[in-house]
Amino acid sequence: MNILFFGPNGSGKGTQGALLKEKYHLAHIESGAIFREHIGGGTDLGKKAKAYIDRGDLVPDEITIPMVLETLQSKGAKGWLLDGFPRNMIQAQKLWDEIQKAGLTLDYVVEIALPRESAKKRILGRRLCKNDNNHPNNVHIPAIRPVDGKCRVCGGELSARSDDLDEQAVNKRHDIYYDDEDGTLAAAHFYRDLARQGKTRYIEIDGAGEISAIKEKLLAALI
Ligand code: AMP
Repeated sequence: MNILFFGPNGSGKGTQGALLKEKYHLAHIESGAIFREHIGGGTDLGKKAKAYIDRGDLVPDEITIPMVLETLQSKGAKGWLLDGFPRNMIQAQKLWDEIQKAGLTLDYVVEIALPRESAKKRILGRRLCKNDNNHPNNVHIPAIRPVDGKCRVCGGELSARSDDLDEQAVNKRHDIYYDDEDGTLAAAHFYRDLARQGKTRYIEIDGAGEISAIKEKLLAALI
């Protein structure tokens, strides 16, 4: 099964994605996480990408597109859940061309919809557990508030992504996401149009509310 996952930063996409990954045994391919691995490893690609990421800008397509397509090929043979890509129309079209060229099916396109203000509040409060990035911790959401400053799931140390704490960078990431002419929502709607032509299935989920409720809605929508 191959799934494409859209949602603004802060919509719970990572958490819901982890659930789908487990249920369907998919390779969870997150473009932002691949960039962070490169930055952590001090690779050339990481050095090139870092300044863009720190500002909240998109990393140029010449870097991003081959990186994601290669990862899909090397890790996604048994099915993938792609998260964070595509983020603009060029990426959307390129991915669709590659899917068709490879003779793959795109089983679902999931969009987690969330108003911009709610997404911003969630992202500024998000904390990452050093043991597992998918442990949900957010200082602004009572249901998943850290416990004594530590991960509520495992007690691990928490940190925040520097680009999550920079409000200007968050605003810029959301400008790109909510742009429905050439940004990420435009890319999502490109796939919604393909679904209307019967070429994939598009599921829109309301991302407001508790994580467990969103999870139930999502699982119920998948056949
Ligand atoms: P994320 O973890 O998805 O929030 O991504 C973190 C950052 O990585 C983004 O703000 C971008 O700078 C960069 N990035 C991730 N995915 C893409 C993409 N598909 N195209 C361009 N830049 C990306």
